[in-house]
Amino acid sequence: MGLFLCRAFQVPSIHLYFLATDHRMTIFHSVPPSQEKLRVLAHGWPVGTESIDVKAVCISACECFGDYFSQPSELEPIQVERASPFIETPMVLYGRTSDDYCRVLINLEEEDKRTWAKIAFQFSHELCHIASNFKARNIEGQKSSWHQSQWVEEAICHTASLYAIQKMSETWKEQAPYPNWGSYAASLESYFGVTEWQTKLYAEEMGCLSDSPQDINGLIRRKLDLLTDNPCGPEGRKILDIIALNLLPFFNNSPEGWSSIRYLNLSSSPALGDHLSFLSGWHEDTPEDLRPFVNKVSDLLTVTPTENRGCDCLSCVD
Ligand SMILES: [Zn+2]
Ligand SMILES: [Zn+2]
Repeated sequence: MGLFLCRAFQVPSIHLYFLATDHRMTIFHSVPPSQEKLRVLAHGWPVGTESIDVKAVCISACECFGDYFSQPSELEPIQVERASPFIETPMVLYGRTSDDYCRVLINLEEEDKRTWAKIAFQFSHELCHIASNFKARNIEGQKSSWHQSQWVEEAICHTASLYAIQKMSETWKEQAPYPNWGSYAASLESYFGVTEWQTKLYAEEMGCLSDSPQDINGLIRRKLDLLTDNPCGPEGRKILDIIALNLLPFFNNSPEGWSSIRYLNLSSSPALGDHLSFLSGWHEDTPEDLRPFVNKVSDLLTVTPTENRGCDCLSCVD
C-alpha cells in the first residue's frame, strides 16, 4: 500500500485550553451530503479525546468549504484515524479501507493542549489533498508518487488549513459544534495567530515581505530547485508557509476558488513537466468560470502574467 506523507505537521508552541469533559449538549448542525460520509475510528485517541468530538471538529472543518468540494463529483468517503505516535505524520493514504473509505491520519500527542486546533489544521490539509485528486498522482509503476510540481498542491493544502482554522475561530464564537465549546474559538484564533506570526518571521528570515506578491515571486524563483526537490524539508516548509499565507486572501476574497481545486492533477501526466506545465494543465482542466481564479494563483506562483500565458481562452484573453 502506497502512502502519502505531507506536511500538515505544524505545531505552534502556545498553551491553549484543553477540552471540557461534559459538553455534549447538542447534535451536529446539518451538513451537506458529502460530509455525511465521514467517520472517525472509535479507538486509539489520546485519553480524554472522544471520537465523537474528533468527528465534530472534522465536520466543522468540512463546513468551512461549503459545497465547493462537491463538484464535479462528491468527495470519496473519509475515515479519520489517529496516526501512530512518534512514527507517522498526518497523512492521507493511497490505500482504502475494505469498504472503500479514504484513510486520513491525524497526529496527536497524549496530554495535548491544542487538540481541536491541531485536528482542524491537519484534517483540512488532508481534506484538500483528497479534493485535489491526489490519487491521480499515484501512477502505477512509478517509483515515487511525488512529482516536481507537488509543492504547488502542498502550498494550497496548507492554505486550506489556514482558511479553515481562521473561519472556525469566527463561527465557533456563535455556532460551535456544542454550545459550550464557544470558548475554544479563542484557542483556534490563537493557533492561527501564532502560525501567521511564525510565517512572517520566516519571510523576514528569507529577506522578503510576507505580503508582497513581487517578493513571493522572487522567493519562488530563487528557491524553485529546492521546492522541486525537497518541499517538505525544513526550508521548503517555511517557503510553503509563506506562499500559503499569500494565497489565503485569494480564497478569502473568492471562496468559490476552492472549487477549482477539484480540477488539480487531472492532466494526463502531472508527474511530467515543470510547474508551468502543471499549472497550465490545471488551467485547461478547469471550467471557464473558475479559470480567472486559477490564473490569479498561477500569476503568484509563476510570475507569468496572464497575457503572456499563450492561451486564447476567454478568461485569458479578456
Ligand atoms: Zn500535504
Ligand atoms: Zn486560458
